[in-house]
Amino acid sequence: MARHAEVAAHPLVAASYPLLADAARLIGDFQIRNRGTIGGSLAHADPSADYPVAMLALEARMVLSKAGGGRRVVGADKFFVGPLTSVLTADEPADRDPIAQAGRARGRRLRQAQPVAGDFALVSVGCS
Ligand SMILES: Cc1cc2nc3c(=O)[nH]c(=O)nc-3n(C[C@H](O)[C@H](O)[C@H](O)COP(=O)(O)OP(=O)(O)OC[C@H]3O[C@@H](n4cnc5c(N)ncnc54)[C@H](O)[C@@H]3O)c2cc1C
Repeated sequence: MARHAEVAAHPLVAASYPLLADAARLIGDFQIRNRGTIGGSLAHADPSADYPVAMLALEARMVLSKAGGGRRVVGADKFFVGPLTSVLTADEPADRDPIAQAGRARGRRLRQAQPVAGDFALVSVGCS
């Protein structure tokens, strides 16, 4: 449930996953960053969105907890199955800590968007 603005500003994210902080900082405008959440964005699985690129480049693993108990861990390369489609099932909210990855990762995000406030990327690149 962490909002994009929180992810962008969190010192632990900046220290360990600067690529993720970069992605969060580039999302939409400040209203969007103050309202949108990392869980919501990943579950939405929009190919133009900023987190999926970062998650794939970081080889992130998503921790998916079943409402009735139990959990599974899914790599970002398996989590996104197509535009606006993920492997999430209706009873499977992404855990409050969707990233389980050891070590620090250096990365870089480049993004070209229309110069209109709040616009999604036209081209988006991430490497780690
Ligand atoms: C005008 C505008 C501009 C935008 N620009 C950008 C942009 O430049 N870059 C970008 O990346 N995004 C952009 N977005 C998307 C935005 O960042 C939001 O993340 C996205 O709209 C989803 O909204 P939300 O995070 O509030 O999630 P919600 O709308 O609350 O949820 C989306 C879906 O995910 C499900 N869900 C939510 N949390 C979880 C969870 N933890 N586990 C499982 N399922 C969950 C919900 O049930 C729902 O089906 C933009 C959105 C708007 C409206």
